[in-house]
Amino acid sequence: MGNDTAQTLAIDAFTGPVFRPGDPDYDTEIAGFQTAYTHRPALVVGAVHTEDVRAAVEYAARHDLPIAVQATGHGLSVAADGGVLISTRRMTGIRIDPASRTAHIGAGVRAGALVEAAAEHGLAPLNGSSPSVGVVGYLLGGGVGLLARRYGYAAEHVRAIELITADGRVWTLTPGDELFGPVLGSGGNFGVVTALDVELLPLTEVYGGQLVFDTPLVERALDAWRRWTATVPDELTSTVTMLAFPDIPQVPAPLRGRYVASIRTAFAGPAEEGERLVAPLRAVGDRLKDDVRAMSYTESHTIHSDPDHPHAYVATNAMLDEFTEDAAAALLVAAGPESGADAVVDVRHLGGALARPSEAAIAVDHREAGYIVRIITGPEGTATQARIRAALAPWTLGNSLNFLYGAGSEADEAQTRAGYRPETYARLAALKAEHDPANLFRFNRNIRPAH
Ligand SMILES: Cc1cc2nc3c(=O)[nH]c(=O)nc-3n(C[C@H](O)[C@H](O)[C@H](O)COP(=O)(O)OP(=O)(O)OC[C@H]3O[C@@H](n4cnc5c(N)ncnc54)[C@H](O)[C@@H]3O)c2cc1C
Repeated sequence: MGNDTAQTLAIDAFTGPVFRPGDPDYDTEIAGFQTAYTHRPALVVGAVHTEDVRAAVEYAARHDLPIAVQATGHGLSVAADGGVLISTRRMTGIRIDPASRTAHIGAGVRAGALVEAAAEHGLAPLNGSSPSVGVVGYLLGGGVGLLARRYGYAAEHVRAIELITADGRVWTLTPGDELFGPVLGSGGNFGVVTALDVELLPLTEVYGGQLVFDTPLVERALDAWRRWTATVPDELTSTVTMLAFPDIPQVPAPLRGRYVASIRTAFAGPAEEGERLVAPLRAVGDRLKDDVRAMSYTESHTIHSDPDHPHAYVATNAMLDEFTEDAAAALLVAAGPESGADAVVDVRHLGGALARPSEAAIAVDHREAGYIVRIITGPEGTATQARIRAALAPWTLGNSLNFLYGAGSEADEAQTRAGYRPETYARLAALKAEHDPANLFRFNRNIRPAH
């Protein structure tokens, strides 16, 4: 049988659409949230069912083609140049079981859709800041949620995973299985997740929002937030973001063109207590914006108000053991209002339940980190990122893989390794050699198979 015939036969097995370069809808199918880089595969499989994914993996393995996976494109790291892209955006099924408080979700479900579906049952997932992020991609990186200090990494709440490995085998993994923990924290290195079961929490409200301080108060707000984080209970998770709003009509008038510090808080508890906890931050001074309030959990995406339009960005991060006075001063010099750095920099408070050892042995390290600094720039900003990271080096334990965005050198092996303790990386590399020896799943924060 000629190779062409074999390829045609294999493609006929897919129930979803397939696209090749030059096809009318190829560009639409590969487009994602990240616009600086785009996968350019030789074949895209628009998967609808688990069987489509399995057939695509078998096809790629038979032809020794590398495999990329995309749900939304928020976390694109290494862009595919050739190979097969499995596009999971059509796999949007959500089934809630209120009795066991779990959601069974397809690989293409976005956080906002799961929040809405869970809310119908008085439940909520442990989602992160943006409603348009894919739930599976988020969980495969650990998942630092809005209430992360209270409930720990979202991946700790996964109950079952359907995974297709490079040999085409369909696994149903549950806690205790050898691959279960390693899959949660290593991106798509071990295969394609077609669906998973994740625990929901009986949460209908959250007390949170933003306090935005103008340029003259940035330093004081950062200092107040830093001291305050040492006093708050685990029920409170927060972030301070320093950014310059562009001077464009889409930005609300009070913020337009301003360099600000925006403190974002989320408290899982009674509003009166939340108000009392937030009072020292309000005491910093006048706010350009203050919408901290009791809100329905379905409004929780307003806490960070992440941009929801596709754009070009790269990001790196540094997980810090402590955010000391000296660390804050170093950050202000490197990235503050006077620095001239064209970067959005945020510091998230970690600790609490995030610091606990993992019951499910998920592959997320640096649990002793008290804070994470994220540095987001345009694609030309990698030198700025390196400068800010260098300033934070004395306090840096490593990276968080979920918060590395962008392709090329920023997705290099050193940054991936810095996401793990050496023994974790070695264990993952050994498992990778066992389950994906040809490294078919390499368009990601790649763990090289140990040889
Ligand atoms: C605006 C914004 C806000 C964010 N906020 C948070 C946050 O609050 N907390 C947090 O922890 N993270 C956050 N993230 C990071 C986000 O969780 C990761 O970038 C995640 O990888 C995005 O997954 P995705 O499916 O949306 O993106 P995609 O680009 O589609 O996927 C990213 C990668 O995940 C892997 N992947 C995705 N689906 C599968 C699958 N079914 N099987 C195997 N591998 C798969 C692939 O390697 C893929 O390249 C944020 C990102 C952005 C851009």
